[in-house]
Amino acid sequence: MSSATKIEVIIQKAPKIELHLHLEGAIPIETLYALIQRRGGDPTVNSIEDLEQKLTYTDFAHFIELWIWKNTFITEERDFEDIAYQVLRNLSEQNVKYIEAFYSPGDYAHKGLTVQGITEYLIKGKERARRDFGIRSELIVDIVRGDGVDVGMQRLDETEHYLGKGLIGIGLGGSEHKFPADPYAPVYKEARRRGFRLTAHAGEAAGPPSIWAAIRKLGCERIGHGARAHEDPKLIAYLKEKQIPLELCVVSNIRTKVFESFESHPIRQYYDRGLMVTVNSDDPVMFNTTLTQEYMVLAQKLNFTLEDLRQMTMNGVVASFLSEKEKESIKDQFTREWQQLQEQHM
Ligand SMILES: [Zn+2]
Repeated sequence: MSSATKIEVIIQKAPKIELHLHLEGAIPIETLYALIQRRGGDPTVNSIEDLEQKLTYTDFAHFIELWIWKNTFITEERDFEDIAYQVLRNLSEQNVKYIEAFYSPGDYAHKGLTVQGITEYLIKGKERARRDFGIRSELIVDIVRGDGVDVGMQRLDETEHYLGKGLIGIGLGGSEHKFPADPYAPVYKEARRRGFRLTAHAGEAAGPPSIWAAIRKLGCERIGHGARAHEDPKLIAYLKEKQIPLELCVVSNIRTKVFESFESHPIRQYYDRGLMVTVNSDDPVMFNTTLTQEYMVLAQKLNFTLEDLRQMTMNGVVASFLSEKEKESIKDQFTREWQQLQEQHM
């Protein structure tokens, strides 16, 4: 076996953890195709190949357009059971053991779908996936910047009941450069009081002030992306000192043109400087990636060694919202599986 193929095999088999994935952007292509057929089809999509072709977007505006188009086929609350199940089945095939996944129930309110209904079906789907594949997962409900603070507060009321029953925290999504995080400080304060764990997208479309706001105004425990932190050396020093985890999504950043090329992405620099870097796939189906592919890119384009990759999966465990006891048990499992891989392939 060539060394390149060997690395590929090991990455494929290695145990993984995912902390930044949007369920609605991760629906496997076959599942999405079946959903489109069930809802009467689309004249431009007559095969899975057509659908793959259609999802190849040209710029960010086109991406948003496709996101909305895709959502038009999700019309019933019970669709979410199959969405969760199929996304988790796909991740389990990549040996992903644990996921904290975003969902954005507000996107479906105009069709009469309720936040509670969507959440309950997602929990059903993820429990079924756990029984069938042994994969564990927790939900993070997305608060959308453009929706306003009142809707954010309402989201807490609607989802608090599911804390500890499949839901673990809140995230902040939507347009980062148009809507700064500051007004959401009361929502985050209240969320913390009620026991939600806290993360927010920051440092993707906007620069360091957005990341500072997520830390200082919202009190986030992790940063969704944080890719543009390098624009402020003081911020880098702070992130290192406090070991605030960054949920980095390299392929996503290239596809949405946050960075020009893989080589210009700062993940290597962050890792070498000792920041708490984790590897994630964001909207894998929309970005034509997988978590396995994210690791492959790091090995092939940015010279990360297998030891580096192992370290980053362990970072993911540390950065997760699991209890210390659960973290220890997952770490043990990962260590065992890495040892087996070493014995088999290295
Ligand atoms: Zn994201």
